[in-house]
Amino acid sequence: MKLSRAAGCSTLALLSLFCIPNLTRAQTSILGFTPSSAARETEVEIKFKSIPTPDEERRQHRIFTSEPHIAGSKRNHELAEYIRDEWTRQGLEDVIIRRYDVYGTNPKSAALEMIAPTHYQALLHEVALDPDPDSKNPAITGAWLGMSISGEVTASVVYAHSGNPEDYDLLRKNGIRVKGKIVLVRYSNPYSYRGFKALTAQQEGAAAILIYSDPQEDGYKKGNVDPDGPWGPEYHIQRGAITYDFMVPGDPLTPGWASVPGAKRIPIEDAVSMPKIMALPLSWHDAKPLLENMDGPMAPPDWQGGLPIQYHLGGERVKIHLKIEMDNGIQPYYVVEGRIRGAELPDEWVVLGNHRDAWVFGGVDPSSGTASMMELTRALGKLAKEGMRPRRTLVVCSWDGEEVGLTGSTEWGEQFADELRAQAVAYLNVDEATSGPNFHGQAVASLAPMLVETTRTLQDPSGKSLYDAWKARSEREKKEGKQSGQFNDSGAADSGLADTRIGSGSDHTVFLNFVGMPVLGLQFDGPYGVYHSAYDDFFWMNHFGDPGYRYHTLMSQLWGVLALRLANANLLPFDFASYASNIRQFVNELSKEKNMWGQPSSAVQPGEARPTPPLDLKPVLDAIDEFEAAGKRLDESASHALAAGALDPKLAATINHGTMQVERNWLNPDGIPGRPWFKHILYGARFTYAHLELPGLTEAVEKQDWTTAKRQAEILRQALLTNTKLVNDLNDTLNHQTAGQTASQSRSDGIH
Ligand SMILES: [Zn+2]
Repeated sequence: MKLSRAAGCSTLALLSLFCIPNLTRAQTSILGFTPSSAARETEVEIKFKSIPTPDEERRQHRIFTSEPHIAGSKRNHELAEYIRDEWTRQGLEDVIIRRYDVYGTNPKSAALEMIAPTHYQALLHEVALDPDPDSKNPAITGAWLGMSISGEVTASVVYAHSGNPEDYDLLRKNGIRVKGKIVLVRYSNPYSYRGFKALTAQQEGAAAILIYSDPQEDGYKKGNVDPDGPWGPEYHIQRGAITYDFMVPGDPLTPGWASVPGAKRIPIEDAVSMPKIMALPLSWHDAKPLLENMDGPMAPPDWQGGLPIQYHLGGERVKIHLKIEMDNGIQPYYVVEGRIRGAELPDEWVVLGNHRDAWVFGGVDPSSGTASMMELTRALGKLAKEGMRPRRTLVVCSWDGEEVGLTGSTEWGEQFADELRAQAVAYLNVDEATSGPNFHGQAVASLAPMLVETTRTLQDPSGKSLYDAWKARSEREKKEGKQSGQFNDSGAADSGLADTRIGSGSDHTVFLNFVGMPVLGLQFDGPYGVYHSAYDDFFWMNHFGDPGYRYHTLMSQLWGVLALRLANANLLPFDFASYASNIRQFVNELSKEKNMWGQPSSAVQPGEARPTPPLDLKPVLDAIDEFEAAGKRLDESASHALAAGALDPKLAATINHGTMQVERNWLNPDGIPGRPWFKHILYGARFTYAHLELPGLTEAVEKQDWTTAKRQAEILRQALLTNTKLVNDLNDTLNHQTAGQTASQSRSDGIH
């Protein structure tokens, strides 16, 4: 799973004749490298980039997409063993399969029958597409949503638009109650995580929730449908989990610790992430008979969808009988772990990961990422065999059960939290590698500059550098007004390319929000209407997503070069000035957007004294200024030390261990109010999965709970002070010792 940004993207890269950039010349300047290390690094990268091939990407992709491989299934376990064997053959070390006994979810049966005003038996499965042989595979499951409860109910149906709280407010205004009824909602208008829709329906007292794919969002209203185009056909069903993992991800019965065999578990009644409602997804084929028979008031214009019918709110006339049987319970999930041991600093880790489990074949999600990972590891193994071993250790993981509740990565992250906090440099996530040509790079703000810099050395299939392709697309989207806050506008225009607003929805979550590691996420996207359906498969990828497997190859290259830079840098390329300017942007947005005065500022008459705000963010902004100044000083000292060439390894280790701790210092051990598992004070996610900056502070301000808001602001200020002191101390150490080193070098130079 990865947030479906796809629905809105339909831009085809225009073929244009640009000069091919010179991406092979030796560079002498890379963030974090001395000139001689940069030259060596460039050589390693050129060699590395030459290894992945589109043919191998395609071959791997076929292996992973040949059969359905849902979390916990026999096939997904076989694929774990396949990865273990491949990695061993490729030259990875310490390859191991780790088992977690988690509360999992599987479908048994589902039936939906309209009993009034007419009879209709829902299909609840996808119809095979003639040109796509995989769509005929008998192992494809029918309609189901992970973590639904089992049950049986006969009730009338209400159309509740997108199933968000404001939609129920509108129903109430129209005199329609949903208590004891079945709500029918659509997936994305606007997008919200289906688990949030389920929780909202549960809180409204609904007996069950049906979530369908309206053609307006991902079907024929967008363009040609599969097998003639990339959009979702009549019968496509978006499966998915409804786990309340925005409360706590991973195994619902082991919140905060790992589900290793024999681990203690909390009683199921106490598990806050377990839904208590029946839930089922529908194709529009199955939703249409319900919608067109509904009574009640006409739905408002923005509730009307893409079907050629009038959408009504319903409430009485349409009655259905729904029966869902689930097979939920403890089952093993398997995480595969391998590494390339670092030649010089084996105890410093750069962690890479991709999930393996798919709702069906997982053409895009996640097998495009899995294929890219297999080519990445082949290239890394080859380099190591030829003596080009990274300085730090690269740890690579294939996660299980991401789709259920970010489960495998969460359990692994919880198991190794202490080691990771002491030793980990960063986590680099790829979920869906590619559903099209548009690059989307996410990073915590301290890594945004190195991400942007790295894209300059890679070639996009359009012929431009990846950097130029990224920039062109970003400018195009800004013009089209699609920006929607995804790009930050702080600092240099270049670092503004990277999306520094990081929500949840994939395996980076445990590393950022629980362990306190800097994270990066990479994806190419495009028009993609078959997300989580049986049609997201090999056929779709070969006809629409990435027919030449060139973006898969580019992903292996990009992911690997980023990992190698973090593994080989003399000084880790964290940019804290960039971090500070992002945090300032978050704080400014909060004070601008949220009503800090209890009334809109327009209500204040000219000449009238503005009331004192209930929360004064000036001390926080002052602390940000100091952190930014400290970051700039360290940047300058690091640049000088690197440019001077020789850097004492002990000194470099001291600086790097220090800068690695900065991210950890953004953690509040108590977590954000109400969600203790989520410990990061800068990054969080809303229940909808949308990114939520300064989560504790923002939520308190939104509730106008000024006592909590003041406490959260003070926690933020203290963390800024701690990190300012840390960065200042590191700067002093670096200046002091490089000054001493230069003096002793010139003394020894004088002797000879
Ligand atoms: Zn995914």
